[in-house]
Amino acid sequence: MEDIEWYADTFKALKIFESLGYELFVVTNQSGVGRGYFSLESVYVIHRQLQNDLREHKLAVFKDFAICPHAPSDHCHCRKPSGQMIKDLIEKHHIKIDQSFMIGDKLIDAESGKNAGIQGVVVRNQSAANTTFPFFKDLLEFAHSLQK
Ligand SMILES: [Zn+2]
Repeated sequence: MEDIEWYADTFKALKIFESLGYELFVVTNQSGVGRGYFSLESVYVIHRQLQNDLREHKLAVFKDFAICPHAPSDHCHCRKPSGQMIKDLIEKHHIKIDQSFMIGDKLIDAESGKNAGIQGVVVRNQSAANTTFPFFKDLLEFAHSLQK
């Protein structure tokens, strides 16, 4: 399997989140599964690799993953911008919604957070800079904003 490429700032940002007591979750649309491009198992393989990479960097691993494997044409209830996957994680892990963030590089990520009742944040997407969601250059800039 090929290595996963991480942005240079990501590990530093994750360290800060960890030091502030945040737990990390992944909420991901994988419509390639529903479209038949790749298997759900291959998504799990990538998620395991993410966890291994975090361990190698002495970072806390993701506490859970929520995956929507459906194609848009499936009209499922989980696909972002639906807040359903986040709502399920909130219930399963007793997440405090007023102290949580949904961070993504797409507007639908932030919208899915909003739809689940948590603050949406956009990073690495200049076209989102003028939206109603807080926007940061990258994950590290957002992490630093939490330290203030
Ligand atoms: Zn779905």
